[in-house]
Amino acid sequence: MSLDIKVGDVLELKKNHPCGSKTFEVMRTGMDFRIKCRGCGAQIWIGRPDLEKRVRKITRPEGGGPDGGPEKDVK
Ligand SMILES: [Zn+2]
Repeated sequence: MSLDIKVGDVLELKKNHPCGSKTFEVMRTGMDFRIKCRGCGAQIWIGRPDLEKRVRKITRPEGGGPDGGPEKDVK
């Protein structure tokens, strides 16, 4: 089973980042995901299996993400 996670989605994880935030924005998808902490802006690479284990909730902003564009670099 794999989650449908796309660039621009906001993920709520089960565990807080050390800065106290537990929401992360998806920057890049693929074999590994790059997510950005919405609290402190730290960017983290995480493998799909690890990420899927940690996600509690996926929020998809309507009308595209904060970066505005469609998905890029996805093959
Ligand atoms: Zn943080």
